[in-house]
Amino acid sequence: MIPVDYHLHTTFSKDGKSTLAEVCDAALARGLKEICFTEHMDFDRDDPAYGYLDWKAYAAGIAAAQGRYAGRLTVRKGVEFDFRRAYETVPGEFLAAIDFDFAIGSVHSVAGYHLYDLYKGVPADFNLAKVQAEYFDEVEALVDSGWASAIGHFDYLYKQLPALVAASRDKAYWRRVEGILERCVAGGVAIEVNTHHVLDRGLAMAADLEILRRYRALGGRLVTVGSDAHRAPEVAGHFAAAEQALREAGFDAITGFKQGAPYSITL
Ligand SMILES: [Zn+2]
Ligand SMILES: [Zn+2]
Repeated sequence: MIPVDYHLHTTFSKDGKSTLAEVCDAALARGLKEICFTEHMDFDRDDPAYGYLDWKAYAAGIAAAQGRYAGRLTVRKGVEFDFRRAYETVPGEFLAAIDFDFAIGSVHSVAGYHLYDLYKGVPADFNLAKVQAEYFDEVEALVDSGWASAIGHFDYLYKQLPALVAASRDKAYWRRVEGILERCVAGGVAIEVNTHHVLDRGLAMAADLEILRRYRALGGRLVTVGSDAHRAPEVAGHFAAAEQALREAGFDAITGFKQGAPYSITL
């Protein structure tokens, strides 16, 4: 069993629907031993979520939950920061100023597209090769930034458009992906298995089995697992599929983080 959930949003994120306590209670009900909250931190001034996260209030909420659930549920304080090269040094300055256990770095927008909307349908002039190349450039820069404990939902384009991207997974695709995975291994950056909407919306798991296999073959051992829940009933959602993929790829342990330092959690 996967005993932890390392990607959770609450009302401290603009799109989160449940409170910290509701998510903690859901985690306990699901038999989890440990969770890490990862509220959105956005740096795009045009994004409606810009400036939404109140870090001080969030940190106080986490401290209170750590006290309330002590001995029953380990509660970690994390963040999911949005990454684009256009933000320059801003994400790094934000992360340097806060105290956290775990930081997911995620690329959500590329070439003017919000990738999380693409599952609804792509426009007629959508150029997959171009968007894909830009996405990989962004993720590569994210890994090289050294800011992320883990890369969120990689490959996100595949997650959102599994049928379309599956057909484009040729030699060049895998060369690009493996180049990024090699950088993760060299930099000690974890990759995430994100199960959000895997079954209910028909999205792909990301990372999926094939990426996990290649990451492991390259020496990668740091893998986090997250439901990316935005409401309490989604906590630990579709984790059976994640565990199956992880075991098939050769993993019998996943990774937790405390104050930015990774440790192993047996499956
Ligand atoms: Zn995300
Ligand atoms: Zn998320």
